[in-house]
Amino acid sequence: MTSSTTFEFTQIGVIHSCYTEKFGIPRQPGLVEETTASLELLPPFNREDILDGLEGFSHIWVHFVFHKCIQEKWKAKVRPPRLGGKEKMGVFATRATHRPNPIGLSVLKIDKIHKHGKKIFIDLQGADLLDGTPVIDIKPYLPYADIKTDALGGFAPEKSAPSQVEFSELATHQAISYEKKFGRNLLSLIKQVIEQDPRPSYLSNTTDRHHGIKLWNTNIKWLAKEDRLLVTEIEVEDDVC
Ligand code: SAM
Repeated sequence: MTSSTTFEFTQIGVIHSCYTEKFGIPRQPGLVEETTASLELLPPFNREDILDGLEGFSHIWVHFVFHKCIQEKWKAKVRPPRLGGKEKMGVFATRATHRPNPIGLSVLKIDKIHKHGKKIFIDLQGADLLDGTPVIDIKPYLPYADIKTDALGGFAPEKSAPSQVEFSELATHQAISYEKKFGRNLLSLIKQVIEQDPRPSYLSNTTDRHHGIKLWNTNIKWLAKEDRLLVTEIEVEDDVC
């Protein structure tokens, strides 16, 4: 029996994203197109020639570390939220974060590549990544090789239908003044994030219980009503991002 080998990898970049905590981050890339994130290349990888040719590609594979799960033990069987937390699946049949190697993989659309002094950034759309996520590799997405039109999606054949989201008058007013002050699309970001109904499965039938999601320097208060999810208030913390 061949024994497994341990490898050591070097972080090449870090993600700056609007998601400052795990709760509320979409479960896969592309579900919240309004997400803003930027991949900053770290020294010694912050050199322009290392990206030569990438401008010809629209998407990249980002290989990253679930750095906020490293301390937690992996499990052979996990409860995918998609199955309401009721059924267990083998961890290798899921995209769960608690894995023998806490490595994640996301296909992200390149918005633009730019320099800021010695710093090099790749702005990305639709990320499902926490602010501060360590990146260990990036690769161009190759449509001729990566698109599998006959692929089967197992217990997750398509994305879940979005929930109905509404804003209170107060929250609408607070979002508009935030957008004016910080120049960020907060309203559409909140709507797209909460449409995913980030409630843990065991709370998915509860109503009138407040939840909070942190986006940039805001804390979004929302709750579930019978037929919709209602954003009640937006608190703005000191500008951290
Ligand atoms: N698309 C990737 C994949 O398939 O490997 C990630 C899928 S995983 C289900 C997405 C979740 O990972 C997010 O909803 C968020 O809760 C969590 N996450 C994102 N960045 C993380 C980080 N740096 N550390 C720990 N968890 C993270």
